[in-house]
Amino acid sequence: MLINLTEVFNTSGKVLETKIKPESKVYSDGSSDYEIVGAEEIPLRFSFIEKGKALVSGRVRMALKASCDRCLKEVILPLDFDIDRECASPDFKAPDPDEDEEIHSIMEGYSIDTERLLHDDITINWPVKILCREDCKGLCPVCGKDLNEGDCGCDTFVPDPRMAAIFDKIMDSTKEV
Ligand SMILES: [Zn+2]
Ligand SMILES: [Zn+2]
Repeated sequence: MLINLTEVFNTSGKVLETKIKPESKVYSDGSSDYEIVGAEEIPLRFSFIEKGKALVSGRVRMALKASCDRCLKEVILPLDFDIDRECASPDFKAPDPDEDEEIHSIMEGYSIDTERLLHDDITINWPVKILCREDCKGLCPVCGKDLNEGDCGCDTFVPDPRMAAIFDKIMDSTKEV
């Protein structure tokens, strides 16, 4: 959805408030797609900072279908975060190139692209690890059994080649004595 912010960019003290619903049914991180299974309306507030520049704030609460990083079981991932960033009109130039890129990346001319804004902010707030539970035991690297359902009895000991070399040296030196 595009929301025109011309008035906010040009009027000191101007505030624009609206509510949006995510339009996309999935969030894609470039390699995987995550279905959005629930989303509350997102209140958005745009306020004048200086000529050509506005503050964007809001609160996102949604749930996505993901899978556990360890056992691959499906999990419903709740996201709850605040949006708090700046955006700018095409004629506004920030002195810092990174900042300039950030304030224009979610814009389409004088309008903010709320889908791009949402995608950006989900990416920033995406958890480092997704687990079905804190102590998920994951899958056995040998047979693939879900270790949360019990031990499989596989020998998962992998000898470290560097350690093996050290042991060989020790054995050799003891032989010489
Ligand atoms: Zn798990
Ligand atoms: Zn196993």
